[in-house]
Amino acid sequence: GERGVSVPDGRFELHQAIVENQLVLHYQPIVRVSDRTLVAVEALVRWRHPTRGILPPSQFVPALERAGLARELTVWVLREAISQAAVWRADGQPLAVGVNVSPENLRDAHFRRYLDMTVRAVGGPEHIIAEIPAATLRSPEQIASLALMRERGMRVAIDDVLEPTELSDVPADVLKLGRGLVSRLPVDARALEEASVIVRAAKALGRSVTAVGIEDDLTWRRTVALGCDTAQGFHIAPPLSTIDLAAWRARR
Ligand code: C2E
Ligand code: MG
Repeated sequence: GERGVSVPDGRFELHQAIVENQLVLHYQPIVRVSDRTLVAVEALVRWRHPTRGILPPSQFVPALERAGLARELTVWVLREAISQAAVWRADGQPLAVGVNVSPENLRDAHFRRYLDMTVRAVGGPEHIIAEIPAATLRSPEQIASLALMRERGMRVAIDDVLEPTELSDVPADVLKLGRGLVSRLPVDARALEEASVIVRAAKALGRSVTAVGIEDDLTWRRTVALGCDTAQGFHIAPPLSTIDLAAWRARR
């Protein structure tokens, strides 16, 4: 369930989490299907709560958004991801980073200005991939924000795509097949057919496809057969701290 933060001053506590650096990013590897080369990571936020341990995003991101802190969260995540991407570049191991963007960010003029200035100041926009959930994309203003990101050199990925048709007008570089669909690939012929329709539509539009939530070898082989370009899942690697990611890269 979506209990969120149950204390009366929840907003204060959530705000403290951001400004006091209680948030931490883990990075989940995304590999090219053809040769399993590491090509990107997805930044996934966790809250190192002072008393409740490490909390997954489902337990606090909806509460942050309800508390009006969506901009603060995404700005924090972007800043952290951009500086981490700079560290990897400086180490001679460049890596693109996917950042999950909230739907309200795309309707937020302050956020757009922040993004614009940050990208100009920091450089390396091609290493940032903004991920937006397909189900939340509605308004022309949101679509315009995606177009702006691409004009600035960032890449755009649409998360959890279920319907290829709704996406032909959305400016995007990558379509992601969500865990809900991918986990059904080995057991459900309809899921396989749905996924293959999406992959064909994506190819026709010149977009690449990432399959998310590969948990076993059979699902991996389905992903290969479908013609997905990149893949992400526990079968490849779970979300990792920067230290664990460095060790994982060194082992390969
Ligand atoms: P998402 O963007 O679809 O991210 C993928 C989620 O699937 C992650 O969960 C990841 O750990 C999980 N996952 C990946 N591969 C597998 C697998 O093989 N098996 C299983 N069981 N799970 C897998 P996580 O980290 O709990 O994140 C959940 C959602 O929270 C994300 O879904 C995203 O929508 C949201 N989220 C995460 N970080 C952020 C953030 O920084 N900002 C915002 N606004 N939302 C975020
Ligand atoms: Mg995502």
